[in-house]
Amino acid sequence: MVDGDAVLADRRWSIAYEASRCLQCGLCLEVCPNFSVQGAFGGMAAMVPLARLLSEVPAEQRKRLASTYRESVYGGCGKSLACRSVCPANIDIDNLLSRSNAAAVWHRW
Ligand code: SF4
Repeated sequence: MVDGDAVLADRRWSIAYEASRCLQCGLCLEVCPNFSVQGAFGGMAAMVPLARLLSEVPAEQRKRLASTYRESVYGGCGKSLACRSVCPANIDIDNLLSRSNAAAVWHRW
């Protein structure tokens, strides 16, 4: 029998690990049609560390972090996923984005 808490912990660990591989190189920002230096959308270079934090912080801190995520990522991402093909770390951006959207927007893990 699989322990539900253990499965959840494994999933959060895998998200945190994947996000920790981000180099913060900014290449994803260069190709993003929705990112601009003056804009509110932080691009995938902001989403990836936020995904890591969302997977690590206690539930009571996640609420405020989720608000930041909705403003700086969810509201601006047009899902072109141009970032995916240029990431030198080959980060699983689709998975991090969908998991973070689920946590920050729909409050699900
Ligand atoms: S291109 Fe990849 S490694 Fe570079 S900042 Fe964006 S997500 Fe991180």
